[in-house]
Amino acid sequence: METQMVKADAQSVAQAAAYIRAGEVVAFPTETVYGLGADALNAQAVHRIFEAKGRPADNPLIVHIAALDQLDALVTDVPEAAWRLIEAFWPGPMTLILPKRDGIPDVVSAGLSTVGIRFPSHPVAQELIRRSGCPIAAPSANRSGRPSPTRASHVLEDMQGRIPMILDGGPCAVGLESSVIDVTGGTPVVLRPGGVTPEMIERAAGGVRVDEHVMKPLEEGETARSPGMKYRHYAPRAEMTIFTGAPDAVARAICSRYDAAPRGAAILALSEHVAGYGARRVFSLGSLSHAQEAAGALFDLLREMDALGVERIYAEALDPHGIGLAVMNRMGRAAGFHIIEV
Ligand code: AMP
Ligand code: MG
Repeated sequence: METQMVKADAQSVAQAAAYIRAGEVVAFPTETVYGLGADALNAQAVHRIFEAKGRPADNPLIVHIAALDQLDALVTDVPEAAWRLIEAFWPGPMTLILPKRDGIPDVVSAGLSTVGIRFPSHPVAQELIRRSGCPIAAPSANRSGRPSPTRASHVLEDMQGRIPMILDGGPCAVGLESSVIDVTGGTPVVLRPGGVTPEMIERAAGGVRVDEHVMKPLEEGETARSPGMKYRHYAPRAEMTIFTGAPDAVARAICSRYDAAPRGAAILALSEHVAGYGARRVFSLGSLSHAQEAAGALFDLLREMDALGVERIYAEALDPHGIGLAVMNRMGRAAGFHIIEV
């Protein structure tokens, strides 16, 4: 199959919508990362997403809508706390886990009785959903296990020959996948942190819990509240280690590992600390006072380091507050939670 990568405009979005209506899979930009979309109500089309990604069948997809009146046909109940979050953060980078209606094929929700719903803010995503005339099931548009794509070129790297079309909408504004929030049990529980932060959720809904597995791996025999927690996502090819502690101690620890490493090592550092690493191979994550910069840069840097053949990554930790928590969750998973406190 020939994969066409085209700039998103009225004509290409109409063509992509025609593919969706015909049961095909297309990649499209959202404010979080690029998505791999299909008609959420067409089980066969949704199967094609799993095939194109190589995604395990027990990892459910998020259903994307472009109007609140689409909710009714998808979920059986929207609790009070969910409405407060919807009012505050939709359209935007937030997925709500809600009790699903029977009409949603099992393949979408991986057999669960709940479904993740998101109303993205990206105008191209909204236009595609509207023109397709159906909700769109879409995971991130990477091959399973690779970092999520934040640019159309990343999608092409992973999906060349697997899907007919990629809509290019430029780099994604947030750069990390949506916050996944379970609102089925009263207090909202953050299953995956993202651009809508626990602090923002607390303010809007009057309470929040962050699932303990956001910053630690599942133990043998433990069940994940969110199937995605089981998988080593966001993985670069390199072995990654994260260092946390006082900046001076972190820099010393990283330098001593780097200097002892055979070839192929690289450092991921906050921009304020880059100069301190001298002539070593160092990549800037962005400023320590603007965690959004690291959110936007992380996946692109992981792909770049893969392409350069980096074998070991020594990374500085970020302050896990605000969107810094989402960055640390993705870095932690990329590192298999190999985090050293110095
Ligand atoms: P992706 O679409 O690649 O961004 O991944 C979607 C994430 O949402 C995965 O981590 C899923 O495990 C999670 N997710 C989707 N649906 C549900 C659900 N019904 N319950 C819990 N987690 C879900
Ligand atoms: Mg994904």
